[in-house]
Amino acid sequence: TARQKAIDAIANTEYDLNQLDFRTNQLKDLFGVNVFSEEVQKARLPKPVFKALQNTIKKGAQLTDPAVADAVASAMKDWALEHGATHYTHLFQPMTGLTAEKHDSFLSPTGTGSALAEFSGKELVKGEPDASSFPSGGIRATFEARGYTGWDPTSPAYIRENPNGATLVIPTVFVSWTGEALDKKTPLLRSMEALSIQALRILKLFGNTEVKKVFTTVGPEQEYFLIDKNFLYSRPDLLNCGRTVFGAKPPKGQELEDQYFGTIPERVLACMADCEAEMFKLGIPVKTRHNEVAPSQYEIAPIFEDSNLATDHNQLTMDVIRRTAEKYGLACLLHEKPFAGINGSGKHNNWSMSTDTGENLLNPGDNPHDNAQFLVYCVAVIRAVAKYPELLRVSVASAGNDHRLGANEAPPAIISIFLGDQLQDVMDQLERSDLKSTKQGGFMEVGVSILPKLPRDAGDRNRTSPFAFTGNKFEFRAVGSFFSIGGPNVVLNTIVAESLDYIATELEKATKGGKDLNKAIQELLPPILKESKKVVFNGDGYSEEWHKEAEKRGLPNLKSSTDAFPVLIRKDSVELFGKYKVLTERELQSRYFIYAEKYVKEVAIEANMMVMMAKTMILPAALRYQAEVAAAVNATKAAGVDNAAQLEHLKDLTGVLSKFQAATKALDDAAGHHAEGDAYAHAKYMKDSVIPKMAELRTFGDKLETMVADDLWPLPTYREMLFIK
Ligand code: ADP
Ligand code: MG
Repeated sequence: TARQKAIDAIANTEYDLNQLDFRTNQLKDLFGVNVFSEEVQKARLPKPVFKALQNTIKKGAQLTDPAVADAVASAMKDWALEHGATHYTHLFQPMTGLTAEKHDSFLSPTGTGSALAEFSGKELVKGEPDASSFPSGGIRATFEARGYTGWDPTSPAYIRENPNGATLVIPTVFVSWTGEALDKKTPLLRSMEALSIQALRILKLFGNTEVKKVFTTVGPEQEYFLIDKNFLYSRPDLLNCGRTVFGAKPPKGQELEDQYFGTIPERVLACMADCEAEMFKLGIPVKTRHNEVAPSQYEIAPIFEDSNLATDHNQLTMDVIRRTAEKYGLACLLHEKPFAGINGSGKHNNWSMSTDTGENLLNPGDNPHDNAQFLVYCVAVIRAVAKYPELLRVSVASAGNDHRLGANEAPPAIISIFLGDQLQDVMDQLERSDLKSTKQGGFMEVGVSILPKLPRDAGDRNRTSPFAFTGNKFEFRAVGSFFSIGGPNVVLNTIVAESLDYIATELEKATKGGKDLNKAIQELLPPILKESKKVVFNGDGYSEEWHKEAEKRGLPNLKSSTDAFPVLIRKDSVELFGKYKVLTERELQSRYFIYAEKYVKEVAIEANMMVMMAKTMILPAALRYQAEVAAAVNATKAAGVDNAAQLEHLKDLTGVLSKFQAATKALDDAAGHHAEGDAYAHAKYMKDSVIPKMAELRTFGDKLETMVADDLWPLPTYREMLFIK
């Protein structure tokens, strides 16, 4: 069988684990060598051009002078050619959640028989990919198919090496001719801008006029699986769906808890080191690596950066791991749930706000002034999550993540906040302080009290909370491993911008009336906390009690993606995103359709894959085995031996096989049916009528795996894929 061949191939292959050697090639020397960084810009650009570009990057000034773009393009081209580049590309992030690129050569024929390397400012700033086949959710009718890409100077261009040269990659936004966002980057930049404006108003109230810009920062921890590539090739489901649609629970899974932080297997470690070297060259500040909870599951985490760069870098990280894994005969699985019964993969989105002078606004300070400021920003986040939990939920909705959220390994679909004991205590005191109780005293006095030291969470305490305060940042843990972190951060930035706006407006009113700022804060925050406290939960998010309690508190529990999608086009969402100019109603509508359609397609592919595997792989193996057993029964009968047990086994087998065939037919019929109505109606149909039939078929398929003779079973099993390293 293909399965046995795969195992043989692995056993007989020597992998080259010394493809790079840090003793001769020091990691520190690699950092940023392939990036058109500030340093490179400074060295290669005329001074006024460098200044103009930096003004755009750091302060958001418009690049209006075409001469500047021309000078930057020319320097970029020379630098790229020296690095072996032959082509350039505008890299964009369409609504598929992946990245897209089309390469153009630097060379232009001169007309006299030779060619010149050229790259103009115009080509740097704007591109027109034929993008008619990217999802637009109705924004871009095909007759006006062209969207265009626009240079994002805040994310530096870089060189991507290939075996015989390199490509200059220019990060871009992707918008329609009418200016509507067709991508993940455009709204992210808009949301960062929206948050900056509101965060600055608060800083100003605190007397800080030096800061010109506030950035949101993100450090995404990326989980993934690595298995041998031979297994991938003999599992069509893994290859085409990214996850196994069949597979019996192995005798050993993750129950021994021997994997988390365990020794990293040598081949995997060599691959990781190679990934890190590649990432270093691209200027990605990768920091940690370790084994995750499930067998063959790992995690990589960088040092945080501004959200835009962090998003670009996370996309690159996924790309680098996938490419590098190949060099070591490994396959990188980024799906949220490649294997049933063991942990799936997520992405912890560590999030905060930082000033352009380097101050983390969620860092509790050492003095009362800083503490007051911290409390304001922190309460703003709590208020935002309490007010818009469903938007956070929909930002992590996908067919893949539905397998994971609430499956006792990842946070539940109920959005709540974990504050931890100390911060909870601070908030409690603050909330009670408006009772003006003089009897007990000891209440938090804004601008006077010193906060207790808030411990930096070691990261993994209370994994059960979808949104946790971890000392100087919040960690949004419901993001799926294969998501672009763009979407979740658009939501986070926008809802916090709204909260900051509300708080700034109230405080401005109060202080204009002559009130002392600290006093105004002291009066404003307690009612906000009272109203928001329903979303705070410090206990076990997996527990049955929490689900009941959450229901009592009236917290939304949008269990599946199809429950969540409509939130996007709800009136309050449209108002919110419109008010802060992050997404228009049409853009939200288009996203709603794109997500629903993507859901439909993903489930349809899986359903069809199941039917195909059932008919062409599992059924033939089971029939062969059935024939063998029947022959044995006949032989024993002919020999006159008591064969009751064998006959019983044959009956069992035939029974399961019949049910398996019936379930195959039921799924085939259901998947072939096209539901009436729009993409969302079809998504609902998939969820209600197709997914249950997939689950049913899987039960019988997995049962057969435990009955059919091992030498006939064609598919690599969980015990092999997860443990042969
Ligand atoms: P751990 O959670 O394992 O103790 P850290 O808290 O240091 O480790 O970091 C976890 C992730 O959070 C890292 O990617 C880190 O860069 C990121 N992080 C730390 N501070 C911030 C911040 N201010 N904003 C965004 N992400 C941050
Ligand atoms: Mg963590």
